[in-house]
Amino acid sequence: MEKRCKICGLPEHYAKIKFDEKGVCNYCNFYLENQKFLEDSEKLEKIFQEKMEAAKRKAKENGSKYDCLVGFSGGKDSTYIIRQLKEKYGMRVLALTFQNAFATEYGRKNIENALQKIHVDHITFSMNDKELRKMYTTCVNMLHNFCAVCFHYMHYYSYLFAGQNGIPIIVNGRTKGQMWQAALEKRLLEPFETSHSLLEFEHQMFHGLEEKLQKHGKVDYLEDVRAEAISYFAYHDVSEEETMRTLEESIGWTRSKRGHEDCYAHAMAEHMSILKRGFPIRQGELAVEVRRGKMTIEEMDRILKQDVGLYSVVPEETKQQFEDRIQRK
Ligand SMILES: [Zn+2]
Repeated sequence: MEKRCKICGLPEHYAKIKFDEKGVCNYCNFYLENQKFLEDSEKLEKIFQEKMEAAKRKAKENGSKYDCLVGFSGGKDSTYIIRQLKEKYGMRVLALTFQNAFATEYGRKNIENALQKIHVDHITFSMNDKELRKMYTTCVNMLHNFCAVCFHYMHYYSYLFAGQNGIPIIVNGRTKGQMWQAALEKRLLEPFETSHSLLEFEHQMFHGLEEKLQKHGKVDYLEDVRAEAISYFAYHDVSEEETMRTLEESIGWTRSKRGHEDCYAHAMAEHMSILKRGFPIRQGELAVEVRRGKMTIEEMDRILKQDVGLYSVVPEETKQQFEDRIQRK
C-alpha cells in the first residue's frame, strides 16, 4: 500500500514530499512550526487593516482614483473579496476581468449581477488571441497544464494596469489551500511576507521557473512596476460555505452546480492533473484543510474519489472543444 502522511494524508508521489520518522510529511511539519502565527485571526486581521490603510495613503500620494485592484473572474472568491474590500474596509476598488479563452455564461452572468449590487469600476480585458493560444499550446505541451497561462496573464495585466494608474496594491482571492499547498519556506509566503513585483508574486506559483524564464528573456515581468500583492484569505478564516452564504444574502448570488463553473476547461485541467500527477487538482488544497483540522482524511478521500470519477475520462466532445479553442499546433 502506498505510504501517506499520518496527519494530512498526502501520498508519497506528491511533489517534494519527505516523511519524518513518525510518518509526518514536511508540509505538515512546516505548518506545525508556524501554526501559531498562521492561525492567529486577531493579529492577522490587524495586519490586513494596516495594509489597507497604508494603501489608501499611498494611493492618495500617487493621485490615484483607486486604492486597490482586484482580479474578478466571476467566481465566488473574487466576488466576495470585492464586496468585503468596498463595504468593510472602505477601499476604492478597480475590478479587472481577464477575458481568457474559457469564460462561461455562468461567470459572465455572475459578473453582471455582482456589478449591479456592488458599485465599483470594472474593466474587462482580452489579449491578442493568437498570442494567447500560442501560450496555451506551449504550456500544455511542456507542462501538461494550462491554468498557469491564465494565472500569469491575469497577474501580468493586473500589474500593468496598477502601474499605469498608480494603484499601490493588488488583492487576490487565492484560498489558504491554494497558497499553502506547496509551502515549505516563509520566503514570499503570506502572511509572513508579501511580494512587491510580478516576478516575486509568480514565485508562489512557479517556485523558481519564473526566474529562469526571466533570465532567458522568455517572459516580460514589467520590472519597473512596483505594487504589493496581497491574498485576502491569508488574513481571514472564511469557509467556502460562509463565502457563498454571504453572497447569496447580500447580492443574490447563484451557486454553481459543480466547482469552477467560471471556467469551461476545468474538466480538461483536472484530467491532465490526474494523468500527469496521479491525483486531482484539489489534492494539495484539501490536504491543507486536513492539516488545519477543518476536514478529516476520510472526507478528503471522498471528495478526491469523486473528482477522479468525474475527470479520469472526459468526453471526446469536451476534448475537442478544448483543442479547437487553443488550436494546438
Ligand atoms: Zn502531512
